[in-house]
Amino acid sequence: MKTKTMGRNKVNIITLGCSKNMVDSEVLSGQLIANEIDTVHENRKKDHNIVIINTCGFIEKAKEESIQTILDNVELKRRGKLDKVYVTGCLSERYKANLEAEIPEVDAYFGTMELPRILKQFDADFKAELIGERMLATPSHYAYLKISEGCNRTCSFCAIPLMRGKHVSRSIESLVDEAKRLVAGGVKELMLIAQELTYYGLDIYKSRELPKLLHALADVEGLEWIRLHYAYPSKFPLEIIDVMKERDNICNYLDMPLQHASNKMLQAMKRQISREEMEDLIGEIRYRIPDVCLRTTLIAGFPGETRDDVEELKDFLERMRFDRVGIFTYSHEEDTSAFDLADDITAEEKESRASEIMETQQEISLEKNNEKIGRTLKVIVDKKEAGRYMGRTEYDSVEVDNEVIINSKSKLLIGEFVQVKITKAYDYDLEGELV
Ligand code: SF4
Repeated sequence: MKTKTMGRNKVNIITLGCSKNMVDSEVLSGQLIANEIDTVHENRKKDHNIVIINTCGFIEKAKEESIQTILDNVELKRRGKLDKVYVTGCLSERYKANLEAEIPEVDAYFGTMELPRILKQFDADFKAELIGERMLATPSHYAYLKISEGCNRTCSFCAIPLMRGKHVSRSIESLVDEAKRLVAGGVKELMLIAQELTYYGLDIYKSRELPKLLHALADVEGLEWIRLHYAYPSKFPLEIIDVMKERDNICNYLDMPLQHASNKMLQAMKRQISREEMEDLIGEIRYRIPDVCLRTTLIAGFPGETRDDVEELKDFLERMRFDRVGIFTYSHEEDTSAFDLADDITAEEKESRASEIMETQQEISLEKNNEKIGRTLKVIVDKKEAGRYMGRTEYDSVEVDNEVIINSKSKLLIGEFVQVKITKAYDYDLEGELV
């Protein structure tokens, strides 16, 4: 490819949206670098001449952010600061024709499965032997491992299957191979991600094989923490919890998005589970591992949600006492089955319900954090900020969960594990002394 601003091309990849998108960007950069194309993520130096924007199309706010990023980069191109702007990812998959018509200044749009076509733009080849080789955008001590793509569920609010297609699992061998490569590169913690973790294996092995995959990953030497994100609650395979209990390097941590607790809402969301079944499942998980950290995510303001439904959700949180909770406001997405319902709650009311629900959780979180005072916990050191080290326990994932402020007179290495005695608790964080 010939460009006018520079002799040599430098590609900057901008990633929007979730960790799954980040993995796609890491794979793309791995392929570009293998083809000897100078590639960086989120380039602060601004010395690149080509941009690839990996967009998100999940909910309204994410779409707006993606479109704004495209417009900003198109403007840079107009001012001669960039030669090429490419757009890939979920938004581009979902709205390609509209985007081509409305923002034609973009040089090319690609869908979520079009990595080889992106590479062709750079006269580069897709190198199949590089599957699993990525240029990490995360610090070198942790990484995400995407075990499958797509989703076969039909949750009524969710646009993800429109953009990511049906569930496709990767083989155990390829995932173990990738994990070994990541560990050889310094990774100590792997976060397993997928649109729906518990479905793993049903497509390629005809049975749910997450427990088998977990055993195989837990055998990878040097891998100290493995944590599980995005487990669907209906037909949850409880053997996962047994493997978690059995294997020391699988964190006692489970991220299980439940979305709501009122049966009326769960039904309208097509979640295939009732509040009673969710309570039984949580009880069983906690019976098997009493100190398991349970994270969930919820939706506020789904069509038809009443005050009673909100009260029921708050009551559920008080009874279940989740360790971590995240909340989204409902986004009315075309081509989902919930789009046929009336989006009858105002944006302000959705926000206010989300805050009200989070206030309930805030008290629970503080109480739970207070219970940790005096305990000594294993902590991974993530970074140094304003002269203080910040880390996480096995009960906390990256970005979404609590952090531990580590008071230490000695120098610590980023990525090392240390023992910290907890001395203070905040709503969502802990503080302690290096032991
Ligand atoms: S399981 Fe998750 S990704 Fe799949 S349809 Fe439901 S919310 Fe969407």
